This record gives sequence, structure tokens and C-alpha cells, in this order.
Amino acid sequence: TVRWADAYAILSDLEEKCATPIMKLRQVSNAMTVEMHAGLASEGGSKLKMLLSFVDNLPPVVPSWTISRDEEGLYYSLDLAGTNFRVIRVQLGGKEGRVIKKEAKQVSIPPHLIVGTSNDLFEFIAAELANFVASEGEDFHLPVGRQREIGFTFSFPVKEHSFSSGSSIKWTKGFSIIDTGIGVGLDRRQLSQQNGDDITTGRRHCQLRVVGEDVVVELTKAMERKGLEMRVAALVNDTIGTLAGGRYYDPDVVAAVILGNGTNAAYIEQVKAIPKWNGLLPKSGEMVINMEWGSFRSAHLPMTEYDLTLDAESLNPNEQIFEKLISGMYLGEIVRRVLLKMAAEASLFGDTVPPKLEKPFMLSTPDISEMHHDTSSDLRVVGEKLKDVLEITNTCLRERKMVVEVCGIITRRAARLAAAGIVGILKKQGRDASTSDNQRTVVAVDGSLFVHCAIFGKYLEGALREILPHEVFETIVIKLVNDGSGLGAALLAASHSQYI
Ligand code: ADP
Repeated sequence: TVRWADAYAILSDLEEKCATPIMKLRQVSNAMTVEMHAGLASEGGSKLKMLLSFVDNLPPVVPSWTISRDEEGLYYSLDLAGTNFRVIRVQLGGKEGRVIKKEAKQVSIPPHLIVGTSNDLFEFIAAELANFVASEGEDFHLPVGRQREIGFTFSFPVKEHSFSSGSSIKWTKGFSIIDTGIGVGLDRRQLSQQNGDDITTGRRHCQLRVVGEDVVVELTKAMERKGLEMRVAALVNDTIGTLAGGRYYDPDVVAAVILGNGTNAAYIEQVKAIPKWNGLLPKSGEMVINMEWGSFRSAHLPMTEYDLTLDAESLNPNEQIFEKLISGMYLGEIVRRVLLKMAAEASLFGDTVPPKLEKPFMLSTPDISEMHHDTSSDLRVVGEKLKDVLEITNTCLRERKMVVEVCGIITRRAARLAAAGIVGILKKQGRDASTSDNQRTVVAVDGSLFVHCAIFGKYLEGALREILPHEVFETIVIKLVNDGSGLGAALLAASHSQYI
């Protein structure tokens, strides 16, 4: 039988340790701003990499952005995010026509390629891309004699040497660097240390590597081998793609946040506020910064024993702390760890600990999101999930309620910390205080955690409302930009076309 007093003691301890009152959120957002300054001051000056991107002319055409042309023509984008990739073609019609037609195709990467070399992977991508190009209909027009151009979104930290090339500096979101070998692939040794479920469940808790090799060169070579005449015109990170895509439709977009498997943010910064930049001044005087905010950490972050052990046992201990508190990759796993403690110390779910509950990453973030959103009076969905996913049968309503409470605490903390991060950016941009003209500020957000977990967005907005002065909050728009990054990459390819 459940020892309820013990279970509630664990719950209230969790609640206390995960608490994010306004004061705490303010401390976190101040710390974020401080780290942003440090990361901009010098290379390696902060946990935040604050990578400069060479995109100084994001769409749309606004004078301060000095874009002198309206994007027009046929462009492609490729978004490589891990276990699948997405290709898009878009016919742009300039200021009037905007996006005339857009087609997309999503392709899963076969498991044997995920464990293979980068060469095989790029070969596969190039072949799929060639098929996609071959299926181009009459609505798409490429002027005679022109090469097709593509924007490549590579959603892992890439330090950009120049706009269209880069070398991967680190894999995150549960991926990590193994050695300096060239190749994208699961590391078999590491994988076997885990329970091997990762590939079959499609969870991306796996090791990948691609280090020091220029991904644009790899892709270009593979396309050449396939006889595909295509030029990589832009290499962008997904946050930057989202910023560009969001801004194409709404000129007030000044930052983008990804809340998916991992989390990251990009924003527009004044070049004069970037001491570590000693190159030419972009025309606009502005530059987009890819923060890599997943690696943010601060003594003010509310950490629990569950977070500490999750981190210690992770593939990248001591790294990506903010991401481990916030992103879809980890929320389900944190909840599992709490429930495991309740099972072991308070006999929640019976006298023996359910074996599945002991398995890392058994509970996914979509699972906890579904349980959390269960509105039935007997929490039927929670009961079914516990049974289907963890093989825990015959749960009583009280146990189900306990599970929902835990899901709520972890999700709420995540969303509120993400909000504090956003306020950190607004502060850095001077948009956290009221101004006479009440400028509108839009933050473009994408990622399945935000898209599919409705309550996440509610918690996030709730926290923004608490932290910001009322009149400022009224000017802030958190805007879902679904697949903004695909369109954004194509737009950036267009604005960096060799033909203009
Ligand atoms: P990526 O961040 O790699 O580009 P996505 O944006 O598709 O990928 O995000 C995938 C993540 O979104 C998964 O880790 C998952 O945890 C989370 N996710 C997907 N569906 C849901 C859902 N219904 N509720 C909560 N989280 C979800």
C-alpha cells in the first residue's frame, strides 16, 4: 500500500525546489543578460557562446535592415535535425507575391544511416534531394542557365566562418562529440551502454558525431556525386531560420526561440554592442546572434536532486544545464525520476518498483504532456499511459493525481524558466521597460514542445506577465511560427543568391 505521507513529502519537496517566484525569475533573467554581455565581450567569455551569424540582412525589406531587394524566384531549403530531414521548395514573388507556392517533403533517416558515416548520410540526403528536385512542378520556375540554390539548416551549434560554410562545434540535445573522426553516427559503444531502446523508440537519446568537418562541403560533394546542380547559398541554424521566417511576415520579430527536443534562441543585436566582433561593420549595423542558450547556467536556476543525477548520468554531464531543465528531450525523464523515487520510497504503484519505471527515458515529454492535459474526471488518460508506457496497472485516482501534479511542476518550471530567458533577451535589447512609443516586440517561437503542449505556452505567458511591467507585457507578442526555419533558410538563400 502507498505510504501517502511519504509520497506527499516528496511532492512538496519537489514543489519547493522547483519554485519559480517572480524574484527568482528576475534573478535568472538578469543572469541571462549578464552572460549575454560576457559572451559578446570575448570568445569563451561565458557559458553562452553567443555565436555571430553573418546574417545582417534578414527579410523583410525594412530600411534599417538595408535589404535592397525583394526576394524573388525559386529557392530550396534543407533542414537536418537528427533522425529526419525536411526539404522545401518555395517560389517567392517579391513584395507583392510573397510566397507564391511552397512544397515540402519530410524524410526519415533510416536507422542504419544514423549509425553510419557522414558520407553515407549526405549521400542519402543528396539522393532524396535529387528526387525532390525531379518532382518540381510547373508552378516553380528557374530561369534558364541558373543553378538552383538552397539554404541549409543545421540545427546543431555551428560556428560560422563565413555565411555559407561552417564547422560543427558541438552536438547537443543528447548528442555529443565522441572523437575527432569525421562522421555522423551513433557511437555503438555508448549506445550499448544504454538500453538500446533509443533507435527503436525513435528517441534521440543517442550519440552523434561530426566534428571539424565542414558540413557544407560534405553536402556539396554528395550533391555533385549525384549530378545535382545545386549551390548551398546559406548555412543557418534553426533559430536563425525561425527569426528570418518570422520576420518575413512580421517586421517586429526581434528574437526567436526553439522549444523542441532541445532549446535555443537567437536575437538581433547592435554590432556596436559586440566587442568581440572585429570584422567589417554590416550595413545595417545589426547582427543576428545565435545564443546557444541551452548551455546557460546560473546559481539561481532551481535545481533538484533529480536534475543533478540526470545531468551526471547524461552523455554530456555539466553541459547544457538550461536545456536539461527546459527542453522536450528531458522533461519526461525528470518526471520519471521523481516517480521512481516515489515508487521506491513511498510504494507509489505497489510494493515493488515497476521495472519499466527504472529505465531511463522510458517516459517521454509527449507522454507527460498528454497526462497533464487529461481532463476526464477519473484521469482515464493518465491510467492508460501508465499502463501502456510503464506497464503500471490498476492505478487509483489518487496515484493518477499525484502523477499529474509531478508533470505540472516540471512543465511549469520549464516554461517559466524559458520565459525568464526571453526576458533576459528583452532586457539586453532594451525592450523590457516601457518606452514612449510602446514599440511592439515579437518573439517567434517554434518547436514541438511549444506547438503541441498547450499548457507550456500558457505557463510561459503567465510568467512573462508576472515579470514584466503591465504596459510592457502588453507590447510583447509570443508568436508561433510553424516551420519558420524552413522558409527562413530558403529566404536567406534568396537574399544571398549568387545572381543578385
Ligand atoms: P527538434 O527540436 O529536434 O527540431 P521538434 O521541434 O520536433 O524537434 O521537437 C521534438 C520534441 O518535442 C520531442 O523531444 C518531444 O519531447 C517534444 N514534443 C513532441 N510532441 C509533444 C507533445 N505533444 N507534448 C509535449 N512535447 C512534445
